[in-house]
Amino acid sequence: MKALHTKNKTQKSPKSQTEKPDLLQSTHAIIREALQKLGYSEQVFELLKEPLRTLTVRIPVKMDDGSVKVFTGFRAQHNDAVGPTKGGVRFHPQVSEDEVKALSIWMSLKCGIANLPYGGGKGGIVCDPQTMSFGELERLSRGYVRAISQIVGPTKDIPAPDVYTNSQIMAWMMDEYSNIREFDSPGFITGKPLVLGGSHGRETATAQGVTICIKEAVKKKGISLKNARIVIQGFGNAGSFLAKMLYDEGAKIVGISDVLGGIYDPGGLDIPFLLDRRDSFGMISNLFEETITNSELLELDCDILVPAAISNQITAENAYQIKAAVVVEAANGPTTLEATKILAGREVLLVPDILASAGGVTVSYFEWVQNNQGYYWTPEEVRDKLEKIMVSSFESIYQVAQTQQVDMRLAAYIVGIQKAAQASQLRGWV
Ligand code: GLU
Repeated sequence: MKALHTKNKTQKSPKSQTEKPDLLQSTHAIIREALQKLGYSEQVFELLKEPLRTLTVRIPVKMDDGSVKVFTGFRAQHNDAVGPTKGGVRFHPQVSEDEVKALSIWMSLKCGIANLPYGGGKGGIVCDPQTMSFGELERLSRGYVRAISQIVGPTKDIPAPDVYTNSQIMAWMMDEYSNIREFDSPGFITGKPLVLGGSHGRETATAQGVTICIKEAVKKKGISLKNARIVIQGFGNAGSFLAKMLYDEGAKIVGISDVLGGIYDPGGLDIPFLLDRRDSFGMISNLFEETITNSELLELDCDILVPAAISNQITAENAYQIKAAVVVEAANGPTTLEATKILAGREVLLVPDILASAGGVTVSYFEWVQNNQGYYWTPEEVRDKLEKIMVSSFESIYQVAQTQQVDMRLAAYIVGIQKAAQASQLRGWV
């Protein structure tokens, strides 16, 4: 496998992997525009611009060396007019209250787009899981559930995995909640291991949803997925499953990166080899001597670009250099609003994050439905149901973009915010 030599290689620490502080403000701007297009009043914007509830908690945890460390955690519930709130919990050193609030609004939008009977929620704990032991992580997860237990539950607010949390953490959280409530409540949380009431297909759901969006997008652009040249930024949970799925579809993955840098081969990278060698944080560039920077990776010659790592990667500075005809956002907020407009002007088809990454919460919804029924579906049933929802979500947003002559991101906000606005109005809140 060949890899280009790097120039001006800049190293980013894994700690820079978080959303930028202006996330809440840019979310406000686009929600206001979407509500205006839908004809809603300023009062509706006042209600929907912030979560209805945000809880900050302090969690004391006994560390392995005998000391006690106190962690800060958050849970934000954006709007529960449609149904219980829903969304993941992230463990990250740079989690902030504003970030969690903005991401809870994004969850409302994703649920609205996929037409799920939920509002949005999000949680986070300020911690560095890479430096913590298994035991410390378990005590932190259980402490978080004890701290937020009053405001969550299978009919109130349903947590799930997010950045640096996984099915093991969901299992501890479910067990703690069951202890507090003294009954077995698998529907309290989703993303659980299969044996504890998880759903088939949950682990790969986000990547599956992105793949379905890519298939729909290339159809619109008249590109064949077989042999299409794809660049993926990020080789974490989403990026690695996605690379495998696209490779299996016959596409050529020509570039891939992790936080330290990228590798490139115009003839197509050996994805099974890279999957075999990646570590649990998705590192692969350290296996190669010749690498490229993440910014060089984004500007590579390709048909489809998938930013699947961190926010603010495609900006006004590099949007004119992007060569891809289709950009599919598997990460949260990888493209700035300015860059969105530049790409739209250049007729690049952008599939926005809140649509592309809706597969995760959709299969979480399936998991919750299966828990409520006590009746479990086959992998094929899950896959078919996910495909139906993703295809129709893509199509409705594409149609709004075409008929209203707006970019795909604004179209996604218009489709996504509609249910929360309508339900809040029908309940007489605004
Ligand atoms: N954390 C994922 C997201 O941001 C999944 C949320 C869920 O499954 O509830 O979409």
